[in-house]
Formats: sequence, structure tokens, C-alpha cells
Amino acid sequence: MSDRMIEATGLSKVYGDGPHRTTALHPTDFHISRGEFVMVAGPSGSGKSTLLALISGLLTPTAGGVRVLGRDLRAMTRDAVDSFRLEHFGFVFQGFHLLPALTAVEQVSIVLERQGLQRGAAIRRAAAALERVGLGRRLDNRPGELSGGEKQRVVIARALAKQPQVIFADEPTSALDSENGRQVARLLRAAALEEGSSVVCVTHDPRLVEHATRVVRMEDGAVLID
Ligand code: ADP
Repeated sequence: MSDRMIEATGLSKVYGDGPHRTTALHPTDFHISRGEFVMVAGPSGSGKSTLLALISGLLTPTAGGVRVLGRDLRAMTRDAVDSFRLEHFGFVFQGFHLLPALTAVEQVSIVLERQGLQRGAAIRRAAAALERVGLGRRLDNRPGELSGGEKQRVVIARALAKQPQVIFADEPTSALDSENGRQVARLLRAAALEEGSSVVCVTHDPRLVEHATRVVRMEDGAVLID
């Protein structure tokens, strides 16, 4: 397989119609190779989240296409895209989406079990992922007993434990102070450089840009610099 993990051509998105028509993304070519940590930066409303949702198959483009790991998302049914996402992608979004009743290790292991891992193996791998993000002493804590930075690291451990080919992160540091923000950026960078995942991170946080192997700048629905 080539090193191109994601390849988008002529990708565009228009929301609504008539007077409510908004071009969120003008036709764009975009690619990501294995091991890259790509930061998509730009002001609020510039189309960053739209681009991320399109290349991760969460949103259907108005025009253009996306190939992920050599597969054309257009040729797949919604269900097929959903299971492809579960198998190959990890997501780190703001707001955590952690289940209040589950401990940190369960938040991670439940995803692995859904992928077909036996319970014991899932728990061992979940614990190892939490240790990697510095939460080895927090395995049995529920979200209500964790700080914002710790919760975000559980989310990262959950994404890393799957050993996904691509990790998508949307504003992963927006709710964090600078030290926690730096730590999250380092973890994502390590996932790309040490584990060979590709990481695409959308942010308007300029402090994160120094961690990227490549920076894509967006404005008004267009990629300005790549
Ligand atoms: P960013 O992530 O850079 O803040 P977005 O991709 O969220 O930018 O938004 C790009 C543009 O598309 C904005 O003008 C936004 O208002 C618009 N937009 C985003 N999502 C929708 C939607 N579901 N319906 C209509 N307009 C939307």
C-alpha cells in the first residue's frame, strides 16, 4: 500500500440552499501520509471542522471524493463507512464523550471489546494505553473524579488503544490550560512519529502549531498554505 493514508480531490461542501447557502469548503485537494502530524489551523468558521468531518467520513461532500487507505468512501454504504471508521480511525473531540458510570479503564476497554477483543485482553490493553498517557494511577476513577486534563487524556488513550491508522482530533486542547494542552499535543505527536498513525488535528490554538510535522492554514473555506 502507498504511504498516502488519505487523498481528497476536488472536495467541497455547501450547507443549505437559497439565501441560507454557505460554502464551508471550496473545492480542495488534500492528502495525508503515514506518520504525519498535520495541524489544520485557521480562524473560527474557516471550514476546519467541515474538512475534518469530510475526510473522516462523518459528512458527505457536495462534490469531490475521498480515498482513505485506498478505499473510495463514495463507493461505500453508510453502514460500511461506519464500520470502516470504527476499525481504522480514532477520534479525539472536545467535550470528551465519556460515559459517567464507567471507570477510565472501562471507557477504553469497552471500545476494544466492541472491536472483537476478549474482555481480559481488552482490559490489559486499555490499562497499558492509560499508562502511556500518564494515568496508570487513575484506572479505576470515573469521569466525575478526574480533572479536565485527565479526562482528555482518557479520550486520547481510548483513541490510541485501538491502534488506529488515522487519528482525528478537533480542538483537543480548547478546554485545557497550557501545560495540559502541551501534554496532549505531545501525545498526539508521539502517536504519529512513534506508532505510525497519521494524526489530523484541527485547532485555532497557535501554541499547538510547533508540534506539527505539517501545517495547513485555512481561511474562508479555502486552504491557503499547505
Ligand atoms: P471551523 O471549524 O473552522 O470553525 P466550520 O467548518 O465549523 O469552521 O464552518 C465553516 C462554515 O460553515 C461556517 O460559516 C459555519 O457557519 C458553516 N457551517 C458549519 N456547519 C454548518 C451546518 N451544519 N449548517 C450550516 N452551516 C454550517
